[in-house]
Amino acid sequence: MARSVLVTGGNRGIGLAIAKAFQAAGDNVAVTHRGSGAPEGLLGVRCDVTDGDQVAAAFDEVEAAHGRVEVLVANAGITDDGLLLRMGEEQFDRVIDANLAGSYRVAKRAASSMLRLRRGRMIFISSVVGLSGGAGQANYAASKAGLVGLSRSIARELGSRGITANVVAPGFVSTDMTDQLSEERRDEIFGQIPLARFASADEVAGAVQWLASDSAAYVTGAVIPVDGGLGMGH
Ligand code: NDP
Repeated sequence: MARSVLVTGGNRGIGLAIAKAFQAAGDNVAVTHRGSGAPEGLLGVRCDVTDGDQVAAAFDEVEAAHGRVEVLVANAGITDDGLLLRMGEEQFDRVIDANLAGSYRVAKRAASSMLRLRRGRMIFISSVVGLSGGAGQANYAASKAGLVGLSRSIARELGSRGITANVVAPGFVSTDMTDQLSEERRDEIFGQIPLARFASADEVAGAVQWLASDSAAYVTGAVIPVDGGLGMGH
């Protein structure tokens, strides 16, 4: 039976690849956006995850159309890089609010539906940087590390109700941004990645889809790296 799947930030980038993978598998997929609308075939709901009222309204809209959300992919995220000594408190808080507190807001709302369904899958999109740290990314790395604690706490609280919570930690993913790197810089980065290339967004989507599949029914509290081996050992 088609599941009700919600992907935050699924209007573009990695989130869109994830949404399309679920759609291709026959699920009913909704994505959040902040004004851009959603690509053809996906149900778009307007939602800024920093606003609890918008989160509540978005879930109500999705559930009216597709039924209770059974698979949540918390993918929406931002960066606002800067060295620690120059990082303002507002700059730190803004990234934590979108990436970590935003994931808490959607997970909390999703949990109430999943408890009623007595099943559910939550997947949080973190980053290799959440585990390794990143110079100039104290706010982003802290937010992405926080997702591990959030997910593992949910895994413990809700496991007995048939709900799993896992993290996917991508490394470098091919995007418009990485396409603009010079060949020299790209080779430098490839030198640190055992698979010597960037991931495609579809490769991240593959791991997410697996975590939401029956094959992963006994996997919870896990952190699955999709980083070409970049973070091995953490
Ligand atoms: P993009 O910048 O391409 O897209 C970000 C998405 O998040 C957009 O859909 C954006 O919506 C949404 N978003 C941002 N802030 C909010 C908010 N406050 N409320 C709701 N939606 C919001 O990012 P990517 O596709 O590259 O990344 C997706 C996820 O993967 C992020 O969590 C990122 O940290 C993580 N990641 C990315 C890597 C990479 O190499 N690209 C590597 C590792 C992790 P809108 O269109 O409205 O702006």
